[in-house]
Amino acid sequence: MNIQDSKSLQALLDHRPVITIVPHTSPDGDAIGSTLGLYHFLKNQGHDVQVIAPTDFPDFLKWMPAADQILIYPNGESKAQQRIAASSLIFTLDFNNLLRAKPLTALLEQSQADFVMVDHHQQPDTYAKITYSDDKASSTCELIYKVITALSSEQAINQEIATCLYTGIMTDTGGFRFSMTSPETHRIVATLLEKGANCTEIASEVLDSYSIDRLLLLGHVLNDLTYLPQHHTAYMYISSKTLKQFNFRKGDTEGFVNYGLRIKEAELAAIFIENEEDKLIKISFRSKTNLDVNLLARTYFNGGGHINAAGGSSHTSLEDTVKYFLEVLPQFLSRPDAYHSNPIL
Ligand code: 5GP
Ligand code: MN
Repeated sequence: MNIQDSKSLQALLDHRPVITIVPHTSPDGDAIGSTLGLYHFLKNQGHDVQVIAPTDFPDFLKWMPAADQILIYPNGESKAQQRIAASSLIFTLDFNNLLRAKPLTALLEQSQADFVMVDHHQQPDTYAKITYSDDKASSTCELIYKVITALSSEQAINQEIATCLYTGIMTDTGGFRFSMTSPETHRIVATLLEKGANCTEIASEVLDSYSIDRLLLLGHVLNDLTYLPQHHTAYMYISSKTLKQFNFRKGDTEGFVNYGLRIKEAELAAIFIENEEDKLIKISFRSKTNLDVNLLARTYFNGGGHINAAGGSSHTSLEDTVKYFLEVLPQFLSRPDAYHSNPIL
């Protein structure tokens, strides 16, 4: 965070605003880690602060310090509406466009509060008074670390903050593997460990906490994986019937898409998941090298994300969505810009 932005942010905080922090819909480890990391920091500074999540989040994140203080919008709509209306400062973390905060989008658009965006997705929207966006950052948690140290100092990072920020960096870098994992990321992680983040406990809570149903669902999905050698592409799909069969709980399919990239020659992995409640097909893409799945998601599936991890959705059937994917895949791969021009190796 540059000096001008940290001064502007400090000036906003000096007015002792009513603060709300919002992660994106279906919050992941980075979204919950960054919102709770910032929450603890602001709380420790004596601020009036509340996290409101647009939708619920997985059980494997519910152990995080103060996760039980998060107001989940569908569980308290009128309370959340009142809080947003009363807020004079709203942080939006880990997303670049208010459409990514459904079903809170309209409430946020109507708000008179000053907005601060902290995010690492490409093409940030312009709704915020302060936009701290860096698409080269590994995670929003890494950026929140920089916000906290810019506003205060390393001294302000306590064990709770360290635990939250470590969790988000660990999950958004796929365990310190993805291409945005930099020397700087590791320096920050080293500090977080010094401040008391316990890497063994965190990994165990987040990664080794499957239910038996979840593990069997993974086995079922992998059993039906299709690999297209001519396109270096692996894809999987899950129908709502299968989800029911394995007693699906939120977060159960998190990370499944990555298994497609375990194939040595695979460059692209996709998963299509039928969401009966929202009446859509949720799609996740992952890639190796500089194959730009953000472009794929944006161009054909109403979505977005990063070069190596993106998502989108479709309003046709599961079968038709997969069919459409197989149609557009060769088109996409033959585009001159399918491979990002700045390879991050
Ligand atoms: P995931 O596949 O884990 O849901 O998401 C991977 C990345 O793509 C995340 O950074 C997420 O923010 C982004 N993403 C996922 N779904 C969508 C979507 O529907 N729209 C946009 N703009 N981004 C998405
Ligand atoms: Mn993130």
